[in-house]
This record gives sequence, structure tokens and C-alpha cells, in this order.
Amino acid sequence: MTLALDARRRAMLEEMGVVLFEHPAHSGDMHDTPPAPPRRAGGTADLRPARADAAPASAASLLPPDDAATQSAPVAARVRLPGIEAMDWDALEQAVAACRACKLCESRRNTVFGVGDRQAEWLLVGEAPGENEDLQGEPFVGQAGKLLDNMLGALGLNRHERVYIANVLKCRPPGNRNPQPEEIAQCEPFLRRQVELLRPKIILAMGRFAVQTLLQSTEPIGRLRGRVHRYHDVPVVVTYHPAYLLRNLPDKAKAWADLVLAQSVLRGEA
Ligand code: SF4
Repeated sequence: MTLALDARRRAMLEEMGVVLFEHPAHSGDMHDTPPAPPRRAGGTADLRPARADAAPASAASLLPPDDAATQSAPVAARVRLPGIEAMDWDALEQAVAACRACKLCESRRNTVFGVGDRQAEWLLVGEAPGENEDLQGEPFVGQAGKLLDNMLGALGLNRHERVYIANVLKCRPPGNRNPQPEEIAQCEPFLRRQVELLRPKIILAMGRFAVQTLLQSTEPIGRLRGRVHRYHDVPVVVTYHPAYLLRNLPDKAKAWADLVLAQSVLRGEA
């Protein structure tokens, strides 16, 4: 355990909108003792909005998380590869790469399977690839990815160790439009198998479509935050999508509180 925050983590926390005022007697290490939620009056920690010059979002969902509207359109009957429930990681990745179960296969450049540690305790679930993700075949690149990396860094994590990142949809919706129900229904078995293979200790559901898919709930994120939910017996904590946070900077502090809750659940403290 270190006696004070190192400069790198402090910078990451500040990017997250968290400004720490360490009490003279404070000796907590970020990894072992994450900052508490806001205590503006007389506490040792304060959560403030970060700077307002972040770049615009590029990920798939740019709507406020409380917007309950979804798009729907007929889709031709398509066939997904059978046997997903028995696939190992490599077979599953190949199945996604070959998948033509919804019309997104026609416009994608790359499938975006997921990235990270296949023994991870943390599973972060976003919504769908954006333009950069479609180009690179990796989730959460670009500005939203940078913010997500900073969020992870503030907890002493990174996307390659103890963390796995996946999306509900593995292919980019054209023009970053919202995922459609038929697309989610076709793609969800891949995510479910990823959860089965990973067996994470905590899932962080980021954004409306991740939350709706995992929790089968249309309640606004604002009402689902701060509680522990379940997806096939795995604890789930709900938070905002990083792309949304880029446009709603004051909510970064709420996202930080969600991360702290998720870490507490993982440690059996909540
Ligand atoms: S989004 Fe999912 S279901 Fe649709 S083609 Fe891509 S991998 Fe298949």
C-alpha cells in the first residue's frame, strides 16, 4: 500500500472529474481504498465537474440515457451459427467474425468482438462499435475510449489486465444510429456466451442499451444506478456510457461513484 496518490492516478481522477483534497492524516491507497462518494461539506474528498473542453462523442449511443425511444425496422430472416452456448473463446470469436445474422453485417468494416483479459474479474459492457471501433476492430477507441481508460486507470486497472470490454452489438450501426431491437436480439447470445466463458465477478453496464439488454429493464439509468442488479447471477452495476459523459461532464462524478460501488461489490464490501 502506498501512502499517497501517485501523480498518474491523480491525473486520471481529475480527468474523471474527481478532485481529491487529502486530509493530512489520509494514508489510503487508491487500489485498496477508493475515494468515497461526494462529501462536499467538511469531508476529505470532493467530486467536481471536470474541464469542459472534451471532444465530442463518437460512440454509437449519443442520446441521453433516459431517452426511452428505440428504433425498430423489419429485418429479413437470417441464420446465426448454431451452438454458441457450447463455443470456447476462439470459436466464439470466429463465429462473430463470420456472423451475418442481422443487416449490420452488410455495412461493417470489422466485427468488434471484445478486448481484454479472458480471466478478468471485471466485465464492462457498452452498446455498439462506433466509427473508430469499426475501423480498428476494437471497442472503445477514440475519445470515449480515452475516458474509459482514465476511469479504469483511476481504479488502478487497465483494459488488458483484470478487465474485459465488450459491446452488446459486435457490428457498427450505420451513422452511429441506435441499435434496433432485432439486432440486439440476434447479437445478445454472443454477449451471453462471453459472460459464461469469462465468469466475471462484476459487470459494469454502460449506457441505455447495455442496461436494457442485461437487465431487461426500460427504467432510466438514473433510477437504476446505485443498486446492485443481476445478470445470470453475476452482479451488475449500472452507469452512463462514456460517450454520454463526454457531453454531460457533471455526470462524470456519478460515474465515478458507480465505479466505486462496483469495486466494493467485487471486494464483497457492498
Ligand atoms: S451485430 Fe451481431 S448479430 Fe448482427 S451481424 Fe454483427 S455479430 Fe451478427
